This record gives sequence, structure tokens and C-alpha cells, in this order.
Amino acid sequence: MSDALVQVRNLFRSFGDVRAVQGLSFEIPRGQVCGFIGANGAGKTTTMRMMVTLDLPDAGEIFIDGNDVVQQPMEVRKRIGWMPDSYGAYDYMTVFEYLDFYARAFGYKGASRRDRVKEVMDFTDLTELAERPMNKLSKGMGQRLCLGRTLLHDPDVLILDEPAAGLDPKARVEFKHLVRLLAEQGKTMFISSHILSELEEMCDSLLFIDQGKLVHHGSAEHLKRSNGSTAVVVVESASDPAAVVRWVEMNPGVELIEATKRGARIKLEEGTDEQIAWILKKLITDGISVTEFRREQLKLEDAFVNMLKNGSAARIAAQPPPLPPDAISKIGSDT
Ligand code: ATP
Repeated sequence: MSDALVQVRNLFRSFGDVRAVQGLSFEIPRGQVCGFIGANGAGKTTTMRMMVTLDLPDAGEIFIDGNDVVQQPMEVRKRIGWMPDSYGAYDYMTVFEYLDFYARAFGYKGASRRDRVKEVMDFTDLTELAERPMNKLSKGMGQRLCLGRTLLHDPDVLILDEPAAGLDPKARVEFKHLVRLLAEQGKTMFISSHILSELEEMCDSLLFIDQGKLVHHGSAEHLKRSNGSTAVVVVESASDPAAVVRWVEMNPGVELIEATKRGARIKLEEGTDEQIAWILKKLITDGISVTEFRREQLKLEDAFVNMLKNGSAARIAAQPPPLPPDAISKIGSDT
């Protein structure tokens, strides 16, 4: 049996005719940060709500540190911190009062409660804002406060739904820094977002869903490698840029994207490491004085679009077999 901290197996959830989650399975090893990506309505929030015991699956199983979310919800709640995509703010409650209120709810008492609230305010950089009412907080401050609330009981697993949505660039950087610190502390994290490039930097693995089904789970590098069948290479010849363009036009397997001031950007049909090395060798043996030869990084967004276009999703992630009809009503109902 797997010792992953988070295990999701063959999960299903429908709302009437809407099949929000259809046979989702994945695991997150202890201490890893996993990004959860999908278009609007793909089923991210529905999946997360089941993981944090706020909703019941129609079928399938979720284990958090070996605890079944349906059978042992209280054990699960001790181990998870849930940051929803929006949270209730109480206009005239201060930052300190808000955290103190939740710390009471988590069972902290007396000096240990004050200490814990102080620690969390320090970590989320809210100490100077302790007396500020919630209706006077910026979006970024509010998100830090919501994260602080999530951290109060020091959970092992953090499940964050679009934590950086609506933040300005500075607040995003601050938030990313907090995620990095939490990862260094060994927290296991599951973070949803629409901003692929941002998750790429923060996450050990990325999990893409489309219409409630898994389409890819792996590192950003793996996604780019498996879906970057072509490569774009910049070739420069400081002394004779036009020679690069002429060479491209005369050689098969390469295509001119554009002539540049110092040479050309070219597309290689195969894009393998072998083809790239061979092109460089041929340029030189054909007498081009190459001063720069650089492969452009495929953007994660482009790799994802390629993946959907090529239908490689099906190859990368084998979907679980359909459930027998009687299994669908195994756990809960739609209420
Ligand atoms: P977004 O990025 O917009 O937040 P999402 O990936 O989180 O989207 P979900 O909120 O999980 O998507 O929704 C998945 C589908 O299930 C959508 O079609 C949504 O309308 C539907 N849905 C979610 N919750 C309910 C509900 N309580 N009742 C009816 N339909 C629902």
C-alpha cells in the first residue's frame, strides 16, 4: 500500500446532470507541493471540498494520512488546513480578534492561545496590522489573514483554493514566499490556480483536470518534454546574419519562424536533443560562423495546449475503468 500523505481513488461527484468529478485518482507524497490546474468549472473546488470533509463523494475514496475523509472526518480535520477561494470577513473585527476567535475554536487556551496567534501573525507578516479592522485590509493582507487562520492548528496538509487570485504582483510575490517557507517546513500542499507559470515555480508536481477527469500529473518539465514535439532555436551569426536565413531555407527539417537582427529563430520539426545537436554541427560544417545557439524554453501554457491538441492526455494518464452502477450510490447522496 502507498504511503502517500494524500490518496484520492476513483472519485466521483455529480450535481444532477452535471458530472463535476469523474473518476479522479492521484496521490501526493509527504512534503510535496502539488498544483491543481483546470479551467473554470473543471471540478477543482468540488474535489477540494470533498478532500476537506465539506462534501461527500458519490463514489471513491480519499485518505489523508491514512484517515478516510468519510469515515474519520474529525481525524482528517486535525491534519488539514483549508483555505477557501473566498472567506467570510467581519467588517469591524480586527486581525488579532479574528485569529484569536479561530484559535479558541481550535481549542487553544490562555497563554498558549496568545503565543500561537502571535506566531501566526509573525509568520504571515500581520503583526503590525493586529489592530486593523478587517474592512480596512487590502486583498493581499486579507489573503495572508485567511492563510494565517488556516495555519493556526499547525496542520500537516494545506489545501489552498486559488490563494493568489486577484492579488497584485507584489502581493503575489509575498504569497509565493510564504508558500516556499511552508514547503521548507515540510508541509504537504495542494494549491489550485489558473496561473500556470506561477504554480510551475512553486510546485513539485502539477495535476491538470478537464471536465472532472485527470489529464496529466507530473512535473512541469515532464509536461514540457512530453508535449514539446517541436523545438524553437535561436541562431545568431554576428558577422553574417543573412547566411543563417539562407541556410535555413536550403535545409530540410528546419523552418524559418523569423529573421532577426543577428540571425534567425527557427523551428525544428522533431525537436529531439539529437536533432538539435545535429543542426548545430551542420551549421558549423556548412561554414556558418555561429555566435549564439539557444533553445527557447517551451512555455508551460503552450505545452498544456499541445497536450490537449495532440490528445496525449489519454496516453499520459490512463483513466480508471468506469464504475459498476451499484458503486455510484456507495457513499453519499446529492444533498
Ligand atoms: P472555478 O475555477 O470556476 O472555481 P472549478 O474547477 O473549481 O471552477 P467547480 O466549482 O468544482 O469547478 O465546479 C464543477 C462543476 O460543478 C461546475 O459545472 C459547477 O457549476 C458544478 N457545481 C459545483 N458545485 C455545485 C453545486 N453545489 N450544485 C450544482 N452544481 C455545482
